Amino acid sequence: PESLLQVRDLKKHFRIGTSLFKSRRQVVQAVDGVSFDLVAGETLGLVGESGCGKSTLGRLVVRLIEPTEGSVTFGGQDLLNLKATELHAVRKKCQFIFQDPYGSLDPRMRIWDIVTEPLAIEGKMSRPERRARGQELLERVGLSSSVADSYPHEFSGGQRQRIGVARALALDPRLIVCDEPVSALDVSIQAQIINLMTDLKNELQLSYLFISHNLAVVRHIADRVAVMYLGKIVELAPKSELYNHPQHPYTRALISAIPVPEPDRPAGTIDLQGHVPSPINPPTGCRFHTRCPFAFDRCRTEEPQLIAQSTDHLVACHL
Ligand code: SF4
Ligand code: MG
Repeated sequence: PESLLQVRDLKKHFRIGTSLFKSRRQVVQAVDGVSFDLVAGETLGLVGESGCGKSTLGRLVVRLIEPTEGSVTFGGQDLLNLKATELHAVRKKCQFIFQDPYGSLDPRMRIWDIVTEPLAIEGKMSRPERRARGQELLERVGLSSSVADSYPHEFSGGQRQRIGVARALALDPRLIVCDEPVSALDVSIQAQIINLMTDLKNELQLSYLFISHNLAVVRHIADRVAVMYLGKIVELAPKSELYNHPQHPYTRALISAIPVPEPDRPAGTIDLQGHVPSPINPPTGCRFHTRCPFAFDRCRTEEPQLIAQSTDHLVACHL
């Protein structure tokens, strides 16, 4: 299958602090050397605790923010070395869905206008054409075309996320980066949105980079899953492999933390101790060593590389 997105050694370091001297400010290594491929038509889940850099990675991939180092290739084009006009064309094919669509919906705009705003910016459609396309998009995401003239405040959280999805579809993208798209919703509504996204993916041959802290949600939608810890991918595998045979102690801990009925708790459960350390001066060697129950000397000094354990199962651990 065709590789749609190739990410290589991507880094994003932020300087923070107020010192007048740039060199005295602290550096946050939000994303620190991430590489992966996303194949056309697949959903790659990206999981980890809050602060692990997954949202930053999602924004880097569609170039909402600029990386410090590394490369991103989309459909064969080097995203980081494009002229503005070329970037504009590629951007249409990579859309973004946010956790809180309400924050990004202008309260004074009618829904059809919001959904087709990307087309208005294109400037190729008349207003009536755009309104008709808006109605079509609303139906596509399970809303009635009769709501086209309503305003954002008239919709529930789940409906607003459908509007966010419709807007992302307006320019016929190939890839949608979804950052915690259902995390603000009730569990029953989460399932509806996940089902909608799965149907749309199949109908429209979309690919998703699906970012979530919730492994149970990712399990429903992803084909493969990448686990991030403190700016790095520590494990990457097909979904069934990752959930049934997790290798990295951090992945095992995250999976152990998914609520299951007590008698079903699998053997080899790991309880995660403590909090994620700061990405300013992260731990040396394996960044997980401060919380890993299996850490040994080598873990404190030598950084484990992400290595294939089998053809499609990558793990970064000395064990
Ligand atoms: Fe634990 Fe060492 Fe593996 Fe890191 S490299 S996950 S500290 S065993
Ligand atoms: Mg986030």
